[in-house]
This record gives sequence, structure tokens and C-alpha cells, in this order.
Amino acid sequence: MANYTIAVLPGDGIGPEVIKQAVETLKVVSQQSGHDFTLNYGLIGGAAIEAEGVALSEFTLDVCRKSNAVLLGSVGDPRYDKPENNVRPEDGLLAIRKHLGLFANIRPVKVYDELVNNTRFKPEAIRSADFVFVRELTGGVYFGKPKRRWQTTRGRRAIDSMVYSEQEIQRIVRVGFELARKRKGRLISVDKANVLMSSRLWRQVAEETAVDYPDVALEHLLVDACAMKLILDPGYFDVVVTENMFGDILTDEASVLAGSLGMLPSASLAGVPDNSKTTFGLYEPVHGSAPTIAGKDIANPIAALLTLAMMLRHSLQLEKEASSIEKAVQAVLSKGYRTSDIMDGGCDEIGTSRMGELVRSELV
Ligand code: NAD
Repeated sequence: MANYTIAVLPGDGIGPEVIKQAVETLKVVSQQSGHDFTLNYGLIGGAAIEAEGVALSEFTLDVCRKSNAVLLGSVGDPRYDKPENNVRPEDGLLAIRKHLGLFANIRPVKVYDELVNNTRFKPEAIRSADFVFVRELTGGVYFGKPKRRWQTTRGRRAIDSMVYSEQEIQRIVRVGFELARKRKGRLISVDKANVLMSSRLWRQVAEETAVDYPDVALEHLLVDACAMKLILDPGYFDVVVTENMFGDILTDEASVLAGSLGMLPSASLAGVPDNSKTTFGLYEPVHGSAPTIAGKDIANPIAALLTLAMMLRHSLQLEKEASSIEKAVQAVLSKGYRTSDIMDGGCDEIGTSRMGELVRSELV
């Protein structure tokens, strides 16, 4: 039986409530599996500004660096939204991603049959959609140089640069191949190779990397075609890998398929997952701090519970425990229990802590 160290950063708003449910669930996983989880807490976001004067302190970073993985709630506090504030809670999020070298953002999107009527889509169009996006997080046009704005005699000009190195492409594409290998053996790489030089390099490196994964079928899709197909035929996708900005846009598009932000987990990894050892990563629900519903015991904790499952799977290689949580979530939904964001006629509406308890009662 192994011992893992987890950094827990509950953050702001509904973050502490949903992370509490994840932590209680981890305790049950520990009892059932015999694995030990040492939890070290830190502050981030508005909570850190209030107590430490900064959105991310050296202390919190140190707690994270000494851990196998980081479990984060959400960041954002309207008290610090005023333009005159120099420090904002969201600064903590950007800083932690940068300091921990998290280059691979993983966002699964699953449309549960039970929630198929909760979205704006026709049920038959989205039924059974279940795919994973792998987005490059530290390169591309958001970080490329030159990046500047200047005045010319004919008006203002600005430039951003989409830059990728072979190494950056290869490591993110490998994350995609590794995930595809554990799922259906299909990887779709999304680019704009008909127009962009960086995309042509991306496509070439993806092809070269594919040689190491003969068990995975690689397909290329242009980003514009991908945007359409995600809405028209989401069941087509399994694992998708793409660069930073394309992934930013496509993952938000994909997230609406699931019906509520309260259902969506995410991970950001600092390495390619490897079955033989732990891979450092930061795990957080996709949703923000939802200040208007904070403290009312109505937030949906399922995103946080599925985030915990991702941590067990991708950082700690505990696949059995991860899928046990996912099956427990499915079982609770099948029995008709819903938080208010996913409520449907004829179901039982329950709060945050009750949803957590019910999921734990289904763990085997
Ligand atoms: P949000 O995700 O907090 O909320 C959007 C909507 O979804 C709201 O109606 C909210 O009530 C609902 N919602 C979100 N999570 C839910 C849950 N678990 N259960 C039920 N309903 C849920 O986004 P926002 O309102 O744009 O932002 C609020 C704050 O969060 C801002 O300060 C923003 O900067 C921050 N934010 C942080 C993150 C993050 O921590 N990764 C992400 C997005 C926004």
C-alpha cells in the first residue's frame, strides 16, 4: 500500500464546499484501498489575499511542490474585482500553473444519459458523447514573442506570435497518445495546417510521434471543421489534442454539451502520464467560485468528485479507485438525485453535502 501527499487548496466561493466533499470521499477511498493520503492545506485566490496579502504565496507553492498532486477548488472573489485593486484572486491561478510547469490541460466531457434533457441540444444529437480534450497550456500565441503594440504614422498596430518548438508539440501529443491508448485507441489532432506554419510543424511532429504508438489511430482535423463537428456529431470524438488557443475556444464550446459547469472536471499535468510512476498534476473543477451560490449548500460537487477521480487516475495511477468514484456518480444520477443546476422533473433535489454522502455510499 502506498502513501501519497496531496496539496489541498480549497480557494474561494463554492471551492471550499465542493473540495470538502472531495476530501471526505478521498478518506473513504483510503479506508477501502489501504492507501494513505497525507493532506497539506494551502491558500489561493481571494482567501490568500486576505490572509497573506498575495494571491499565491511561497508557502502555498512549497506545499504544492512537496506533493504528488494538487487538488484545487476555485478562485475568484468579487471583493477584489475593483479596477483599482493591484492584486486579483485569478492572478493566483495563472501563477500556480506557470510555477508548476503545467503544460497539459485535460478536460473530459461526458454527457450522462440521465442529463441528456438538461442541455440546449437535441437529446439524440448528444446522447452518449464522451470524449477528452488535451490542450497545450504553456505555449502558442498566448506566450509567443514578439508580442507588442505600437504606433505608426498610419495608426496603431499590434502583433501576437504563434510559436511552437518540436519538443513542446511532442510532449503534448504524447499525452494525447497515452490517453488514447487507455481509451478507444483513436486520437484526433486539431490544427490549422492549411494556413499556419506552426500547425504544419504540429502535424508533422504528431505523425512522427505516432510511430511510437502503433496501437493508436491518428487523425487530423482542421480547427474550423472541429468546431462544427463538436456540435453536429460530438459522439465522433474520443481523445482530441490541440494547441493552446484552439483548445481554449474548443473546450469552452465542448463544455456546454454537458449541461452544467457543475459536472466538469479538469487536470493540468506537468509530465506525460507514465504507468510506472506518479505524474505531478493540478486538479480543479472547470467551474469558478460561483459567489452567488456560495455557502448555501446548493453547489454541485460532482465536478469536484470527478476531479478527484482524475487525480487518482492520472497522477497516482490508481485506476480502480478512480473508476469506482465515476461509477458511484453514475449510480447516484441513475437513482434520480440531482443538485439544483441539473434538476429535472420527477427527480429528487438535494444539496452539496447530501450529494457527496450519496456518492460515497455507492463506493465499492
Ligand atoms: P462560475 O463558473 O463561477 O459560474 C458560472 C455559472 O455556473 C453561475 O451561474 C454559477 O452559479 C454556476 N455554477 C458554477 N459552478 C457550479 C456548481 N458547481 N454547481 C452549481 N452551479 C454552478 O463563473 P463566473 O460566474 O463567470 O465567475 C465567478 C468567479 O469565478 C469570477 O471571479 C471568475 O473570475 C472566477 N472563475 C474562476 C475559475 C477557476 O477557478 N478556475 C474559472 C472560472 C471563473
